[in-house]
Amino acid sequence: MTTAVVVGSGPNGLAAAAVLARAGVDVTVLEAADEIGGGTRTYEAIVPGLRHDHCSATHPMAVGSPVLTDLGLDRYGLRWRLPEIDCVHPLDDGTAGVLRRSVSDTAAGLGPDERRWSALFSSPAQNYDALSEDILGPLLRVPKHPLLLGRFGLPTVAPATVLARYFRTEQARALWLGVAAHAFRPLDRPLSSAIGLGILTAGHRHGWAVAEGGSRAISDALAALVADFGGKIETGVRVESVSQLPRADVVVWDVGPNTLASVLGDRLPPRIRRSYERFRYGPGAFKVDFAVQGGIPWRSPEARVAGTVHLGGSAEEVAEGERLVHNGRMPERPFVLLGQQYLADPSRSVGDVHPVWAYAHVPHGYTGDATEAITAQIERFAPGFRERVIGSVSTSSAEFAAGNPNFVGGNILTGAKDVRQLVFGPRVTLQPYDVGVPGHFVCSAAAPPGPGAHGMCGGKAAERALRYLWRG
Ligand SMILES: Cc1cc2nc3c(=O)[nH]c(=O)nc-3n(C[C@H](O)[C@H](O)[C@H](O)COP(=O)(O)OP(=O)(O)OC[C@H]3O[C@@H](n4cnc5c(N)ncnc54)[C@H](O)[C@@H]3O)c2cc1C
Repeated sequence: MTTAVVVGSGPNGLAAAAVLARAGVDVTVLEAADEIGGGTRTYEAIVPGLRHDHCSATHPMAVGSPVLTDLGLDRYGLRWRLPEIDCVHPLDDGTAGVLRRSVSDTAAGLGPDERRWSALFSSPAQNYDALSEDILGPLLRVPKHPLLLGRFGLPTVAPATVLARYFRTEQARALWLGVAAHAFRPLDRPLSSAIGLGILTAGHRHGWAVAEGGSRAISDALAALVADFGGKIETGVRVESVSQLPRADVVVWDVGPNTLASVLGDRLPPRIRRSYERFRYGPGAFKVDFAVQGGIPWRSPEARVAGTVHLGGSAEEVAEGERLVHNGRMPERPFVLLGQQYLADPSRSVGDVHPVWAYAHVPHGYTGDATEAITAQIERFAPGFRERVIGSVSTSSAEFAAGNPNFVGGNILTGAKDVRQLVFGPRVTLQPYDVGVPGHFVCSAAAPPGPGAHGMCGGKAAERALRYLWRG
């Protein structure tokens, strides 16, 4: 029987394993950690029964991901849940930029920017399902829908701060830059709009969904499918040498280029090894999980029913914070992404105590403690928050890096998403999943289309591995 080893059980490793197992390949997954899931795990950190997502929480690009959809994960228990409002960006004057599922409802709430928001998102959102075939994969190839892609792609080239000037209101500008900041990049650089436009377009089509029961439900569903097709998963096995691998016809790596360079070493063609060694990592994340009695007393009424709240103040403040962290300096008021997944999925709460997930963008390799900076940003837009906190747990950048070798320096995107790495992945090539060693493929979020679209890198790398197995 044809055999495959998948190293790493993040959503991409498990998606690769699922695609291979379903195709009849005998798959073994080896995971370094004691539990599966990588960035899609959920834990009870503070109060028994209170479920916090360890890493990924909100999934506008995964919910409609062609790979996850095709795998039929609903049969394995995955249920998506949507909040009443997708995302809110509160401002100091008590107003907010409010992102609703429908383009027209969002636009209507943005007053003088109504026409502009609609002009930017109506057509791409309507055509997102066709468009996703082109944007959720390697960008350098013949597109299936060139006109749609051109229409979507034109604004992505602009720096996010330039696109922000297209809007007249502070609410629309801040809402836009907060979403663009998911790219962890200076927002005045070319292509810094690409990730934000992708998230907003996907969200307007599918919503900012969370997985019922916690993001762990995504990895559990994938693992159940792998097992259903006869695959095996071993945890607590950190692969540091190819000699550890069982015999296999193909090996698919859900790891960063740093691990590929050290584990495959001299087997890699020297040019590819150099590219992997030079791979760049971006700023880090510092996270605090809170247990909050009665929820957060937001000043903005919309924030009280929003799945995600972006805390960074004005567009200028967000841009300045991102510039500082990129340059290795910690802002006094960092950009914070806050998740209230329990609003869409009440099963995560315990009575009136709710899990709140929040992380700040911090410099790469940050060694400080951002707990107070994050708490202060929440308090700034929700006076009285501190009194409602009954417990909290912080995870530093160093702890993220220690817990997952893919998050180097606390960089949770598995690499800086600068122009070269966003377009090509770990090295300049038209075959981003090939690592240059016959039968070996990379499937982590370092490869296109990158983080966010859970399972796409894994599914695409597995397709490439299947073509290799079935060649000739
Ligand atoms: C705080 C935080 C918040 C986030 N929020 C979101 C969000 O809201 N939405 C979103 O879409 N994404 C979010 N992400 C990013 C998301 O988690 C990642 O993009 C995603 O998990 C990447 O999946 P992956 O399969 O490529 O790798 P990972 O999930 O990183 O999994 C890689 C796995 O491989 C294992 N591994 C690595 N090296 C080895 C080795 N040598 N041997 C054996 N096993 C190995 C690791 O232990 C890990 O389990 C967030 C991440 C963090 C940390």
